[in-house]
Amino acid sequence: MNVHDSEKIAGIFSESGYDQSEESKKADVIVLNTCSIRQKAEQKFYSELGRLKEAKKHNPDLKIAVAGCIAQQEGSKLFKKFPYVDFIFGPDNIDNLQKWITNNPETGKRTEALKANPSYHTKELPIKREGRVKTWVSIMYGCDNFCAYCVVPFTRGRERSRPKRDIQKEVERLASEGFKEVTLLGQNVNSYGKGLNEKTDFPDLLSLVHGIEGVERIRFVTSHPKDLSEGLITAIQKLPKVCEHIHLPLQSGSDKVLTMMNRRYIYEEYKEKIDKLREGLPGIAITTDIITGFPGESDDDFQCTMDALSDIEFDGIFAFKYSKRPNTMALSLPGHIDEEIKSERLSRVSNLQEAITYKKNKAVEGEIHEVLIESVSETDSDKLTGRTRGNKVVNFYGDERDIGRLIKVKILEAKRHSLYGERV
Ligand code: SAH
Ligand code: SF4
Repeated sequence: MNVHDSEKIAGIFSESGYDQSEESKKADVIVLNTCSIRQKAEQKFYSELGRLKEAKKHNPDLKIAVAGCIAQQEGSKLFKKFPYVDFIFGPDNIDNLQKWITNNPETGKRTEALKANPSYHTKELPIKREGRVKTWVSIMYGCDNFCAYCVVPFTRGRERSRPKRDIQKEVERLASEGFKEVTLLGQNVNSYGKGLNEKTDFPDLLSLVHGIEGVERIRFVTSHPKDLSEGLITAIQKLPKVCEHIHLPLQSGSDKVLTMMNRRYIYEEYKEKIDKLREGLPGIAITTDIITGFPGESDDDFQCTMDALSDIEFDGIFAFKYSKRPNTMALSLPGHIDEEIKSERLSRVSNLQEAITYKKNKAVEGEIHEVLIESVSETDSDKLTGRTRGNKVVNFYGDERDIGRLIKVKILEAKRHSLYGERV
């Protein structure tokens, strides 16, 4: 989501006549688009911003802007701590960047754009997209779920869906520009449509996007398990362009921890949804997010997460140590866990999943899969890289001119994090 926000920021600069520089030394303006989902991301930003102090000394005309969730979270405190910052704007105020670019050279004033922006979801922003084959389309902004660990509802504001016709227009334009795959983006795509005047929902939106000529694949992230409906399963069954992959964050296998997290489902309910998905869509790839060491997570609770991983056998996971975030409910929970235990649990989760992912990759050896060719492989320029419908990376020898095409590939060998195959 942040990468896509950066594309919007770059789009606005580009429309104002700015070029993107590969070297920060040559830049007139440097924008740091920040993430505050975990402490580690924050630390990275602060060390980067620290380095820019020198850059500003060398070039007093340099303008420094801080965008994204840390900007929203810290607000004008950043001006106090880092007096060389010129502009601060939150993820819900990217549209205000244009005004700053226009006005700042005259005023030279330090400004901020952090207020709630209730009509942001109706704005049409220029976007400078990376790549030419696949791309993202925002379908909603913000989040109302308030999971106890998560900063997103505080930094990205209330949930708002973009009007259907705006999404349609954007996808039509992308198709005409030659993009083959779109990923519909939101914190909780299954609640798409809530609050819109028109009556619509996520399966309805999928169907609309499916009808757009030129789009060959449709993906979506992220789905909250509590909002996953039978309607979504039916839509994926009916709409061949929608890929059989779902990212469905579980977070923990323990009902006690799930309740403390305010996730509003228990493991059994989650598992029922997985069973329905696999029944309705045999072979669907399912990936998830896991947090280790949430406050109060006992050894037994942690074991429930390990059991869940063995029980469900996800195709892949993203696992994180619980990280304390400002404003969130989890801060005041009892039983915060030592860093060492969090790390130890994280490595146990990662090791278990490594073995499962490898086993799952092994299972597709010999099969023929449809692959959308995305680019030349980063590690071997003779090879091409693409993804299966289940979002698995496949490398194979091929012709660069085929980038952007859907082809059949026979999977010859499973690697830990990718597949190797040959074109058939
Ligand atoms: N809206 C998405 C997730 C967005 S954040 C969803 O609900 O699925 C992506 C992932 O980061 C989350 O699923 C969670 O696993 C992780 N995460 C969020 N806040 C965290 C925190 N404070 N500590 C550790 N991991 C966190
Ligand atoms: Fe964060 Fe939960 Fe919203 Fe996802 S659903 S963004 S984890 S609050």
